[in-house]
Amino acid sequence: MNPIRTQAAVDWAVLALDLGGTQVRAAVVRGDGIVVTQRRSRTPVEGGGEAIVQACLDALQACRDAHAAAGGSTLLVGIGIAAPGPVDPIRGRVIDPPNLGPSFHDTPLAERARASLGLPAFLDRDTQVAALGEGAFGAARGCADYLYLTVSTGIGGAIVSGGNLLRGPDGMAGELGHLLVDRDGPTCGCGAVGHLEAIASGSAIARAARRKIDAGESEPLARLALARGPAFGAREVAEAEMTGDPVAASIMAGARDAFARACVGFVDVFNPALIVVGGSLAAGQGDRWLEPAREMVAREAFRVPARRARIVPAALGDDIGFVGAAVLVAQRLGLQVGPPRALPGERGRPGER
Ligand SMILES: [Zn+2]
Repeated sequence: MNPIRTQAAVDWAVLALDLGGTQVRAAVVRGDGIVVTQRRSRTPVEGGGEAIVQACLDALQACRDAHAAAGGSTLLVGIGIAAPGPVDPIRGRVIDPPNLGPSFHDTPLAERARASLGLPAFLDRDTQVAALGEGAFGAARGCADYLYLTVSTGIGGAIVSGGNLLRGPDGMAGELGHLLVDRDGPTCGCGAVGHLEAIASGSAIARAARRKIDAGESEPLARLALARGPAFGAREVAEAEMTGDPVAASIMAGARDAFARACVGFVDVFNPALIVVGGSLAAGQGDRWLEPAREMVAREAFRVPARRARIVPAALGDDIGFVGAAVLVAQRLGLQVGPPRALPGERGRPGER
């Protein structure tokens, strides 16, 4: 028998890596979803692909060293990597993510991590990993059929059906942000027109605001853009909406409406029990973002799936990639994840709230 499989969940841990366009974050995460050590550094995009790979390996090694120095006796069983798509989860490669520069192309990151650290390494798209985390330890605990959506700079997604991630033959299924919602809409970061991400993402909201500023249509937005400089984005547009600027309000309402329309389609097409919504933009907006989607689903989706589907906020916050990486490794190695960790403010199991 594999000696690892007989360990109680808290007796094993993984090295987790969350690679993003701005930060490389690594952690040691126990089998019960608890993050015990973490390190973060800036992603050296300007240094090219090899510099980014090296930053990843350094962060993982630093976490392993810190864990050992702190007397951590937990057995490290593998490495779980959450990477921006598109990825090849079977071969553990990151294909050509838009935010990591032109030389980070078809990079065998899992193999490099395995060779460098001597542990089995597994990689998947960040949103797939996040969905695994929410399913094991977060808002979708105990749920076999759910969608995960992240709404921040971009919009990403994952589909879990019958307890399994839907991958498709190329490992690319679940790109829910690239659903066509408006044929006459703006151009998406992917080059197509009218995708959900082109209207409802943080970068889309910021672009729409810039167009209004350039056209001289909103004094409050222009003032905020001047004051915040390059940091001006969806957060400022949301702020201007709250202080009563009608132009900002119309941009935000358009984004929420596109998101709601997409959710109607998701409910009709996938019959999910839950749509779990994470990402900084959705988290900052809270029910302001989710409620229009709930209302439109109740009004416009097929009656039976609309009655079942609940649209809820993600529960794991910034740890989502780390926690999901532990679940990814556990799945690939045939380990059980540990007892659910308590979530902030939780009184009982999710179904009892
Ligand atoms: Zn797109």
